[in-house]
Amino acid sequence: MAIERTLVLIKPDGMQRHLAGLSIDRLENTHLELIGVKIVSVTDKLAREHYALLEGKGPFVDKTLYERLINFIKGEYHGDPKRRVLALVYQGENAVQGIRKAVGATNPEDASPDSIRGAFGRICRKHGYYENVAHASGNVEEAEREIAIWFKPEEILK
Ligand code: ADP
Repeated sequence: MAIERTLVLIKPDGMQRHLAGLSIDRLENTHLELIGVKIVSVTDKLAREHYALLEGKGPFVDKTLYERLINFIKGEYHGDPKRRVLALVYQGENAVQGIRKAVGATNPEDASPDSIRGAFGRICRKHGYYENVAHASGNVEEAEREIAIWFKPEEILK
């Protein structure tokens, strides 16, 4: 089996609700290797680079929804002037799929109760957006692209 790397972000809703520790506990249960950790203040540029491939795709053909996604990851709905997101890199056999399983389905209402999103995610009734606590890379290619956006090579262990 292939050794992969994958990116996890504890998003502003997870940071505001102090769910970083509980989320990492579930990520650690995968027994993958944690090789990078960083607290990041998310700029507009970083947010747009991270979500560049989603622009105009799927539900994000709706420009308003896409801008909401950008504002969300910048912490604008969670009152954090520091715009904090916790970024982590895990490595190991089938790391992408293993971490996606631990994080769960996009919609918290569809996510397995064993997953981070199923246990802690919710849908904001006021605005209709998913507060799904964590991001996890979707495939190996995306993972490498995202890791390069969030981390310098020297910030990650081999
Ligand atoms: P995932 O994060 O599971 O890979 P996507 O890449 O499709 O999912 O979407 C990125 C993020 O956009 C999701 O994690 C979620 O925060 C938000 N999102 C996706 N689809 C919707 C939707 N239909 N309504 C509200 N928010 C959504």
